[in-house]
Amino acid sequence: MPFAYDDQNIFAKILRGEIPNDTVLETQHTLAFRDIHPQAPDHVLVIPKGPYATYDHFALAASDEEIVDFTRTLGEVARAVGAQPSEAGGGFRLISNAGEDAVQEVPHMHVHLVAGRPLGRILQ
Ligand code: C5P
Repeated sequence: MPFAYDDQNIFAKILRGEIPNDTVLETQHTLAFRDIHPQAPDHVLVIPKGPYATYDHFALAASDEEIVDFTRTLGEVARAVGAQPSEAGGGFRLISNAGEDAVQEVPHMHVHLVAGRPLGRILQ
């Protein structure tokens, strides 16, 4: 059974305008907004507007147009918060928790973009 999509999840409510959000960027298919419990100076959640519960669901069921829009918007968010890697430093990390083992709390596919401080190594 895939992780079920529940249209009462908090990000679905944000997409419907029922809950406010601190938008960084919005396109036809994608919304990027600041996490309410930031883990770094820049912590942005990037979500597709379509009803996809997890990353794999999105990657396999979304249209090419949605996937391209999402991927480009992630890149634009990195630039918008000034986190693009350069010879002077900077950079960012992308994380998508999918399902129980990854402790996904909100069952609407999202990618965390975390930046603004040295992030350390998470995989050995
Ligand atoms: O990947 P995971 O599902 O655990 O992350 C959900 C994220 O959504 C958390 O970082 C939480 O702070 C964020 N959140 C939010 N606004 C809400 C509810 C949750 O930014 N209204």
